Amino acid sequence: MKETIIFDVRKMTGDAVEWPELKSAATLLMAGGTVAFPTETVYGLGANALDAMAIESIYSAKGRPSDNPLIVHISSRDMLTALVSSISETAVRLMDAFWPGPMTLIFKKLPIVPDKVTGGLDTVAVRMPSHDVARALIDLSALPIAAPSANISGRPSPTTAEHVINDLMGRVDGIVLGDNAAVGLESTVIDTTGDIPVILRPGAITEAMIAAVAGACETDAALKASKGEQVVPRAPGMKYRHYAPNAEVTVFTGDTIGILKQFENAVEEASAGDYKIAILLFSEDLAVLNRLLAGNTAHVVLFDQGSVKDPAVFASRLFRDLRASDDCGCKRVLVHGMAEDGIGSAIMNRLLKASEGSVIRI
Ligand code: AMP
Ligand code: MG
Repeated sequence: MKETIIFDVRKMTGDAVEWPELKSAATLLMAGGTVAFPTETVYGLGANALDAMAIESIYSAKGRPSDNPLIVHISSRDMLTALVSSISETAVRLMDAFWPGPMTLIFKKLPIVPDKVTGGLDTVAVRMPSHDVARALIDLSALPIAAPSANISGRPSPTTAEHVINDLMGRVDGIVLGDNAAVGLESTVIDTTGDIPVILRPGAITEAMIAAVAGACETDAALKASKGEQVVPRAPGMKYRHYAPNAEVTVFTGDTIGILKQFENAVEEASAGDYKIAILLFSEDLAVLNRLLAGNTAHVVLFDQGSVKDPAVFASRLFRDLRASDDCGCKRVLVHGMAEDGIGSAIMNRLLKASEGSVIRI
């Protein structure tokens, strides 16, 4: 067990680089320590990207497979030029449009980036986050910070300070407690080493947004739900079981009334078997399902994922509610899925992983 120092910045105001808590957290990073901190996507677990020993501590704290490379976080373009051997015109356009923000780009790396960070690949993933705490930590330490999501490997990514404490207390040197993650899903990962940008992991920056800036955009074939099992994904991390609660997850897509009837049946089975289930559904579904259940609600916990018209709300609540389903002791989680379109691609990608491919089309 490590002694984990807590840096609570939830009540702080003003310029984050002036906060004493962040100065202390940055000192830990400079000394080779591991510090979890908030970003706009999910909480990250950071360490000096140029220090192979510090990187080793990230992998052991998370129990992360060593061939799953880390994203290096920077706060200026100057930091990028010190890490990569070339920057394509497409990459420049994407950076101009979406940095700082929830977008990670893959570049050919310079030798200064340790192999441990890249899982032995000759490329490195880089992101400039927009969150003020993340940026202040990078500025104050004056280091590129390698930071995967701050969860135990395989669990849903952490979107609140409490999730990080639950997973990493006693396993890391510091935790910065901040606000809830605004996006709630990990960054879009885009390979910019070829002629056309290729999405290796979908996120809040969508295929259409990238194509509008870069002229074209492809998505790694392995990420499409129907092909996911047959093709090896190009982002090594996308091949692992991921984002999963302990409960068994099933995703339903297609006709809404048919899906709600499936939910009703599952609640009946749960009450007959005397176990609890969780259902993640749209706000618009709630009244209909409640009518179908007619008061039979003792064995079900309903999680409102926001309006079907605003899937970004679904994205921001997904990991939180998968974790909450476990906390309620639910044996199963049933989810009303959506079309793989816009941010729906990212949501369905995470749900496909969390359910180990258990997606039922009604
Ligand atoms: P996480 O840090 O947990 O958000 O995961 C980072 C994701 O980026 C994983 O899916 C990695 O496999 C992917 N990634 C990081 N570096 C590279 C790289 N050089 N090439 C391809 N994918 C990468
Ligand atoms: Mg992760």
